Amino acid sequence: MRFEYSPAPESRSIVTLRESYGLFIGGEFVSGSTAFKTISPATEEVLAEVTQAGPEDVDRAVAAARHAYERVWSVLPGRERGKYLFRIARVIQERARELAVLETLDNGKPIRESRDVDVPLAAAHFFYHAGWADKLGYAGFGPSPKPLGVVGQVIPWNFPLLMLAWKIAPALACGNTVVLKPAETTPLTALLFAQICQQADLPPGVVNIVTGDGATGQALVAHPGIDKVAFTGSTEVGKEIARTCAVSGKRLTLELGGKAANVVFDDAPVDQAVEGIVNGIFFNQGHVCCAGSRLLVQESIADEVLSSLKRRMATLRLGDPLDKNTDVGAINSRAQLDKINELASSGDSEGAERWSAPCPLPDRGFWFPPTVFTGVSQAHRIAREEIFGPVLSVLTFRTPAEAVEKANNTPYGLSAGVWTEKGSLILWLASKLRAGVVWANTFNRFDPASPFGGYKESGFGREGGRHGLEAYLDVLGGGDV
Ligand code: NDP
Repeated sequence: MRFEYSPAPESRSIVTLRESYGLFIGGEFVSGSTAFKTISPATEEVLAEVTQAGPEDVDRAVAAARHAYERVWSVLPGRERGKYLFRIARVIQERARELAVLETLDNGKPIRESRDVDVPLAAAHFFYHAGWADKLGYAGFGPSPKPLGVVGQVIPWNFPLLMLAWKIAPALACGNTVVLKPAETTPLTALLFAQICQQADLPPGVVNIVTGDGATGQALVAHPGIDKVAFTGSTEVGKEIARTCAVSGKRLTLELGGKAANVVFDDAPVDQAVEGIVNGIFFNQGHVCCAGSRLLVQESIADEVLSSLKRRMATLRLGDPLDKNTDVGAINSRAQLDKINELASSGDSEGAERWSAPCPLPDRGFWFPPTVFTGVSQAHRIAREEIFGPVLSVLTFRTPAEAVEKANNTPYGLSAGVWTEKGSLILWLASKLRAGVVWANTFNRFDPASPFGGYKESGFGREGGRHGLEAYLDVLGGGDV
């Protein structure tokens, strides 16, 4: 039976957009010399003008962070820092709807996801790290671990507010101050977060937000006043940042790309696995570093899984991200859409077979239908490169050993999924897979208490949990260089 849906749009009236935004430095918004526009990827409507921070702005922000670090934040007792973090967490909850609508407008992700995943998890990260602020002496890093100083943080556009929370909450809990650069295409929730810092009376300079493009990020990570760099984004830029930091003595953590295997064995409950496959690759339009973008399915059930998967994909609703019925929103930018198209075309030309869900695409904005490629070989680009879009590559295997070999045959190592009812097989596979997180009979589960990070070209260092604190404390950690 097919249900017809009436439109159920979330009102955008809760968001008050300013015409233009300055940089958040030393606790206030300050203007810069040049500006760029941020648009809604679903409609191409201009949302606001945002300041492009130059090297002198980055300099000011780092100086403000240094001042706040030395005079206020590093000398404040942990229990006092914790109170600010609790306050920020509560304001995020109070302003959750506003943050969710703004995130959806600027990023293009469905409101269902920004409302139910991004914003609650961002609040959870602040609550979790607020709890750590006065207990760092019990975290296993010695009786009185010290902060690192001023942290430069550069984040991507796929989870703008959530990545901000992953970065800022542990840094502040450990006594560091930060200068954060959001991605060029999604700066608005970071700027709303700056207002939240003001509302929470956070001391000026503890959090500074500099908007801009890659050049701003480059100026930030290269700045001599930065003690630690934390980056999430592409492997290519991550490598460049590693080179920049290599001889500077700066501490560094990198969370980079992925090409995760989602491995389905023949004893898996097929309907449940299909939900996990859909969630693994179509959540957030596949703009997820740990997306299950390679489906490895046991040959004996491949036909059954694929026909169920296509049936399920045909029910996905693509369109207005503010509609509460929408499953798949807009691609974040024209550049990203071009990249997805280019890689998908390489799948066609290298001989794989493309099938896309039969959903109409809106006339304006950036869209790509949920797509699956079969007949994929390990040599195909779509099996090796991160597409970062709603595109699934399907490969088959016969034995568990073959599954491990194929799953690990990637330069990345961020995540993996396993679907089977045998606990022993799950544990065996988890011990063999070179992936920072292995989900069993589920996918894309996140919790602030659980460390997240990669192997190989997916980066190093962990975010979240006790392990994540290590990256922001002056202790010799496995992830830092
Ligand atoms: P980038 O890695 O270029 O961007 C991540 C962040 O780094 C952004 O804030 C970006 O600014 C900034 N940046 C860019 N160049 C530099 C630099 N030289 N020094 C310091 N900071 C810099 O990712 P893109 O947005 O360009 O996406 C490209 C590809 O990367 C995607 O197609 C996807 O495959 C992958 N990606 C992976 C992510 C992940 O989490 N694994 C996240 C995002 C992208 P600006 O936004 O202005 O470019």
